[in-house]
Amino acid sequence: MSKSALLKTCFDVLHYSGASTVLGPYFRGQGAIFCLHHVRPGGGHQTGFAPNANLEITPEFLDDMLSALKRWGYQFLSLTEACHRMQAAKPSSTPFAVFTLDDGYLDNLVHAMPVFKRHKCPFTVFAAPRIVEGTCELWWVGLEHVIAGSGNELALELGGEALRLPTATDAEKWATWKRLFPLVHAMPEYEQRDWIRALCERHGIDLNALCRAAAMNWQQLREMSREPLASIGAHTLNHYAVIKLSEDDARREIIESGARLAAELETPIEHFAYPYGNVAHAGPRDFEICKEAGYLSGVTTRHGVVFAEHASHLEALPRVMVSGKYQKVRYLEALVSGLPATLANGFRKVNVS
Ligand SMILES: [Zn+2]
Repeated sequence: MSKSALLKTCFDVLHYSGASTVLGPYFRGQGAIFCLHHVRPGGGHQTGFAPNANLEITPEFLDDMLSALKRWGYQFLSLTEACHRMQAAKPSSTPFAVFTLDDGYLDNLVHAMPVFKRHKCPFTVFAAPRIVEGTCELWWVGLEHVIAGSGNELALELGGEALRLPTATDAEKWATWKRLFPLVHAMPEYEQRDWIRALCERHGIDLNALCRAAAMNWQQLREMSREPLASIGAHTLNHYAVIKLSEDDARREIIESGARLAAELETPIEHFAYPYGNVAHAGPRDFEICKEAGYLSGVTTRHGVVFAEHASHLEALPRVMVSGKYQKVRYLEALVSGLPATLANGFRKVNVS
């Protein structure tokens, strides 16, 4: 059984046994901060070679999520309101749901915003200025395009090694992706960007065009930020995994991204999201910088729901990732129960080390 099939089975057992409902209030904490990326028609349901489909959900599923959370008694809060709720002396018995979307994709404006408005649900979009400018290397998208378009075989050099990887069938494309993705993800940031630029150039793929097609430009981001339910947060200047940068570079990425957005959008930027966001991408040094920079919160992708204890760790909040592979309300029910997070975190409520 594959890992995702196993996870789905776990979710189903939780749902059909009623365990998530019975145990929910104990493990679910004060609420959940959801992390989305793309929201667009057909999102996540692609067949064949679509290795980034996990970053997409459909507008219909977003609508189902919001309806279900309302039915289960969740209150929709902005990230700022949720931080204040965590800091309040007296905890609320009503659980909250916060929606965040990373990277600033155009589909957030076109397809997600109307759904949020219909449900009067606040949301935060984390934007990186170089993505907004359309010049950032969305290397995972570039890599997908190179593999998808490379015929029978992909020849490349990686870490000083010449590789010839088969790409004739979807299965071969997937295998090649699974081999390359973790290696490219782990490269030092500047080297990674040079590597993907060179690879894409050799294969006639315009990385900037991919970025411009995917992202909101400044005008579109301004349009979104004028919507009262929307708030814009910072996501570094260049979408770098800050843990891999020198302290000076990490500081510049974290601080200047917020300053640039504030100047462009003429609004204070209160929140920050660490790109990629897991333990391999952001750590205690970066959390400290985020706090010193004056952001009210920093959100990670460390998996978890929010407990009262997080009030003293607002610079390293956990989130619940919504994957295109799990677009069923029963999976959502298991996620918000806090049980998968509790198990994943070894029964620790707070994980900031
Ligand atoms: Zn991101």
